Amino acid sequence: MRILLVEDDSLLADGVRAGLAQAGFAVDLAIDGEEALLAAQSQSYDAVVLDLGLPRVDGLSVLRRIREGNQPVPVLILTARDAIGDRVKGLDAGADDYLIKPFDLTELQARLRALLRRASHRADPVVRHGRVALDPAARSVTLDGQAVELSAREFATLQALLMNAGRVLSKAQIEDKLYGWGEEIESNAVEVYVHHLRRKLFPDLIRTVRGVGYLIPREPA
Ligand code: CA
Repeated sequence: MRILLVEDDSLLADGVRAGLAQAGFAVDLAIDGEEALLAAQSQSYDAVVLDLGLPRVDGLSVLRRIREGNQPVPVLILTARDAIGDRVKGLDAGADDYLIKPFDLTELQARLRALLRRASHRADPVVRHGRVALDPAARSVTLDGQAVELSAREFATLQALLMNAGRVLSKAQIEDKLYGWGEEIESNAVEVYVHHLRRKLFPDLIRTVRGVGYLIPREPA
């Protein structure tokens, strides 16, 4: 899951970025509104965490521009405690949720999981697919009820494919979910993660669509 974090306070940004990375999100940081708009146009994000007080283009304008472009990406705004008006304006401008600064990282993580769940039209916080169940909050996976140990990248690869069950994801689309800006991607990394997932779960779980990418069928095997 790839998140765009828009925050000009570098101390806060570093902390949030680390916290989100720890929760398994790939994070890109934009430090002003212009950078945020560029990023939102050039990359597909699973969610945006948006500070409202930003240099160059303020957060509310960023939000409006994203929504004018009809981008459905979930947006969570960060606001000051006394800024009720900002929160109302933000929600009415298309934000899906807000957090009041200072906030707890675990709450931000949980709110993002809730936004991603709603965006994928799921009610159950655990993603279930036949014999496999993936719990984004616990970061755990089971096969037939038995825990399966996965690396963080394997987990993220499985999550991306499960959340898009029935759709073929290209290698590049999977990489986009796994790596933020500046993170080095080994050329065959996704193939390796898929190979490990087939071995640790079961071979037929993930189909290869030659020349296109990978697929977990909508209906479990
Ligand atoms: Ca700010």
